[in-house]
Amino acid sequence: MTEKTFGLPERWDETTDVAVIGSGYAGLAAAIQARDAGAAVVILEKMPHYGGNSIISGGGCCSYDSKLHLRQKLGLGEDSWQLHMQDTIRGGGDQSVPELVEVMVKHAPEAIDLFVDAGVAFAETLPRMGGHSAHRSHLTIGNKGIAMAEPLRDMALRKGAELRLKTAVKRIWRENETAPVAGLELEQEGKTVQLKVRRAVVIASGGFAQDVDFRMRFNPNLTDAYNCSNHKGATGECIRFAQAIGADVLHMKYIQLFPTANPETGNLDKHALDAYSSTGFGSLNVDKAGRRFVNELGGRDEVSDAQILGVKEKPTYTILNQAIYDALAVPTSIVEAGIRIGRIVAADSIEELAEKLHMPELSATVERHNGYLAAGEDPEFHKAISSHMIPLTTGPYYGIAQWPTIHFCMGGLRFDPSAHVLDTAGKPILRLYAAGECCGGVHGANRLAGNAITECMVYGAIAGRNAAKE
Ligand SMILES: Cc1cc2nc3c(=O)[nH]c(=O)nc-3n(C[C@H](O)[C@H](O)[C@H](O)COP(=O)(O)OP(=O)(O)OC[C@H]3O[C@@H](n4cnc5c(N)ncnc54)[C@H](O)[C@@H]3O)c2cc1C
Repeated sequence: MTEKTFGLPERWDETTDVAVIGSGYAGLAAAIQARDAGAAVVILEKMPHYGGNSIISGGGCCSYDSKLHLRQKLGLGEDSWQLHMQDTIRGGGDQSVPELVEVMVKHAPEAIDLFVDAGVAFAETLPRMGGHSAHRSHLTIGNKGIAMAEPLRDMALRKGAELRLKTAVKRIWRENETAPVAGLELEQEGKTVQLKVRRAVVIASGGFAQDVDFRMRFNPNLTDAYNCSNHKGATGECIRFAQAIGADVLHMKYIQLFPTANPETGNLDKHALDAYSSTGFGSLNVDKAGRRFVNELGGRDEVSDAQILGVKEKPTYTILNQAIYDALAVPTSIVEAGIRIGRIVAADSIEELAEKLHMPELSATVERHNGYLAAGEDPEFHKAISSHMIPLTTGPYYGIAQWPTIHFCMGGLRFDPSAHVLDTAGKPILRLYAAGECCGGVHGANRLAGNAITECMVYGAIAGRNAAKE
């Protein structure tokens, strides 16, 4: 339980219309919309640089459509917001708040369109990722979240938002449990500053995966023995500040592991992300002996559990070939760089790859899997085979080592479809909005790939628009 601390400062030092906490996708989307609605906006960022997890993300953003119409252009089958909604809820173990999911999937095309308007160049590919039943993940060339965040930040600045770095929020001011939020206490270059808001505060401060004590309060298994893919500032204190003025939280124990991270560092380098994206095009996951151990298109929880609880010993590997890299539109230079640093092991034949990776079972596994793709059925792990899956019959072939890393917080502040933060009685806290990874409820017990950025963009925009209307 977080102790309640209501009150107001003795004096205000500054005033703005809308204060946005955090400069990732959610905060930037909020700032853009609030500026469009005519509000003065300050984005507060505690780190010396903008962007949080957003600039290190893989940039996969799921939507059933967009003004680019990539799925239709690339002939990658059917999709709809209803199917996206069904996948998201099923992937989250039926724990998601359906109204929140519905808003996200219906407005997802607007998220891609805002990126396009900001100048983001999407690659000519549309992978189908684990847990999704359609091809819907929009990616930049090289899977670079920064290639999406940078144009968004520039758009927010062009529109007149102020971005204040090295400025940490330390407290949210609310006089009592029925009053509207009045402002924020900031620590700026060693000085305390009291910032009053005329309209509203938007919390877009990201998740808490890097705060080991805090995450272990909800899942004691997630000790510091685990790697973590997040930026150092993902420590979740604004969730606690909001609780201190009455906000409710949900799903805090649902903390996701990402299955294909670099086994040494826990980072999601380009090769880890390609391995993850490749499963919809037919790659397979194998253990050290070269045996499959899971439905590769299972959710991240299913695959990570199969690694940690089933295989037990790191690393496991993704096995793919050049044709799959081509389908992912991965430039040859990236594959070559991966081979040079030893992240990717390459071979001209499966037998040679098996020898290099010391996998006695690999050749037989690949042959069996090729047969499953031809037959349209996977009797071993019941993967949903599709016509877009490529059999491993032509080289070169590749193996990429991997192991789960702590990655994403499904839980966070309870909020409603208008992005209002709710109190423990389920009532909106006046003049307080939230968006992005600091929120809980959209992803239930397990987030599907490419759904976090969609959530940030959709709810960031809603929060910014509504904050400006106050
Ligand atoms: C390596 C990696 C790859 C990923 N790839 C994908 C992907 O391909 N697709 C997808 O959908 N999701 C992906 N995710 C998840 C997704 O990137 C994040 O959930 C999303 O970027 C979070 O955005 P946000 O705006 O909510 O928070 P962030 O981008 O984390 O921004 C929050 C900001 O708030 C700041 N902040 C926190 N507390 C304070 C405070 N007290 N005062 C001031 N500032 C504060 C932080 O420093 C941070 O800069 C990935 C995550 C990681 C780590």
